Amino acid sequence: MPYRILVIDELDSRGVALLREVADFVVDEVATLSVVELLERVGDYDALVGRSATRITPELLRRGTRLKVVGRAGVGVDNIAMDAATELGVAVINAPSGNTVAVAELFFGALLALLRGIARADASMHHGRWERSALLGSELKGRTLAIVGLGRIGSEVAHRAHAFGMAVVAYDPYVAAERFAALRVRRAATLEALLGEADVLTVHTPLTDETRGMVGAEELAHLPPGAVVVNMARGGIVDDEALLVALESGRLGGAVLDVYVNEPLQGGHPLRQRSDVLLTPHIGASTREAQRNVAADVCEAVRDALLSGDLSRSLNAAMSGDVAELASALTLARRTAVVARALLADRGGRSVSSVIINAGDDLAPAATALLSAAAAGVLEGVVDVERVNLINARTVAETRGITLAVGAGGVPPHPRALEVRLAAEAVEEMRVGGVATLDGPARLTRIGSFHVDVVPRGTLLVLSNDDVPGVIGHVGTALGAAGLNIAEYHQARMDPGGEALAVVSLDGNPGDTVRDALLDLPHVRAATLVHFRDEPSGNRRA
Ligand code: NAD
Repeated sequence: MPYRILVIDELDSRGVALLREVADFVVDEVATLSVVELLERVGDYDALVGRSATRITPELLRRGTRLKVVGRAGVGVDNIAMDAATELGVAVINAPSGNTVAVAELFFGALLALLRGIARADASMHHGRWERSALLGSELKGRTLAIVGLGRIGSEVAHRAHAFGMAVVAYDPYVAAERFAALRVRRAATLEALLGEADVLTVHTPLTDETRGMVGAEELAHLPPGAVVVNMARGGIVDDEALLVALESGRLGGAVLDVYVNEPLQGGHPLRQRSDVLLTPHIGASTREAQRNVAADVCEAVRDALLSGDLSRSLNAAMSGDVAELASALTLARRTAVVARALLADRGGRSVSSVIINAGDDLAPAATALLSAAAAGVLEGVVDVERVNLINARTVAETRGITLAVGAGGVPPHPRALEVRLAAEAVEEMRVGGVATLDGPARLTRIGSFHVDVVPRGTLLVLSNDDVPGVIGHVGTALGAAGLNIAEYHQARMDPGGEALAVVSLDGNPGDTVRDALLDLPHVRAATLVHFRDEPSGNRRA
């Protein structure tokens, strides 16, 4: 029986042609449909492909009893009920990289427009004037471009900046040194160091808990006088209010913004009144080429998913095989990696360079999937979360210069045990392991050289302390004072009186203040907080 595909939202024709040329596909192309019409028709299709105009609701997904894939031509999948899709086993595929060049080109267009007053010059000419003296600009050559986030777009921007004769420096603690070297970008050790030398500061990170407000009043104050600030990533990474204040103080040379906390930007917003700010209405990806690229990318991926079951570009976890038997091991692999990454980061090793997985006999056949899960744990909260899952984590990690390997030796003794080993520059390798039995929750059984026994869920606190009396009491009191309930407390030590390690599973979510209070306690050497995200379930149809 042929696969039936419904293409909605006026997708670029090059993408649709890719689907039409497959003999096994029946492709129906319609303009954006009303909710009712779509609900009526969705049951006939194996795949839906569209842009952002149509909301893919849980109800629509449930009605689509034949649906295997939903394709989105573009990056954002905010219009798709991702959890429902994952739960129902519908693969969601997007096209994250087709618009990278469009953003990088807009960056230079807009930056030059600001520095040379191009928009003002054009408006003045159209008003019949000839105002040369008011339009004395400045050049990019010899200036320092400071990039926060050296991912896909940051890298394209860096590449083009060299052609303009700019010096390029970047801050991205999650990218390996080799990648910086390959891009000929100097690495700033801290955000503060980067800010100090920025003639132009630009952010290209996802919006995460860590990056929200990352460039605020304090950071703007570190910029050299006359610096220009650019945000084409997501509203809120640069704090708009703080930016306004800094611009009003006259310290900055201007700003370029394509994205805003609230879109569309309010009509009377004070940013709109400033001539030293160049504003565009979130058009980073709005080029014909980008639209064509994303349509072709997504149609190609939907085609491969339907024809050969290739789900390597699916956003939601989509495991084939015995999902139930593997599920707890996959979650354990991801969570051990999250723990190992957090511990490494607290020791100064934020850019992970390699991930190795060792699996016991029963899990060994699934070692590759476990490695992907571990890679996803390493990347969690670092790259756009929507994009990292069991299926695509390997590719994402590898393009970021992280080496992934299934360990050759050192197989843990339990048949359903696994161990994740993470390496990062300048710090000692971190090993975290656990056991995923079939009859109970997976447990962490090893952190570094210590044997522990705790379920990795909610929030874990990992404490390193001197093995002296009283520490457990102090820790319990500090956590109790913060209103935090302890679910499990496991204390381990190597030798009496030496270094000890405590793993505490907490019901609540302590903030940095609690961590600081713990670090102030006598005999506490280090305190690492690890928060686990909920895992999506497997894919039952694709
Ligand atoms: P990416 O995932 O390839 O790269 C993001 C980079 O940010 C990664 O290298 C990551 O290591 C880094 N990073 C994460 N947290 C960081 C932190 N705390 N400090 C420093 N670096 C950090 O993403 P991308 O495709 O390059 O997209 C970058 C941004 O551009 C995203 O926010 C995306 O949504 C946005 N975007 C905007 C438009 C537009 O129309 N204006 C179009 C496409 C993408």
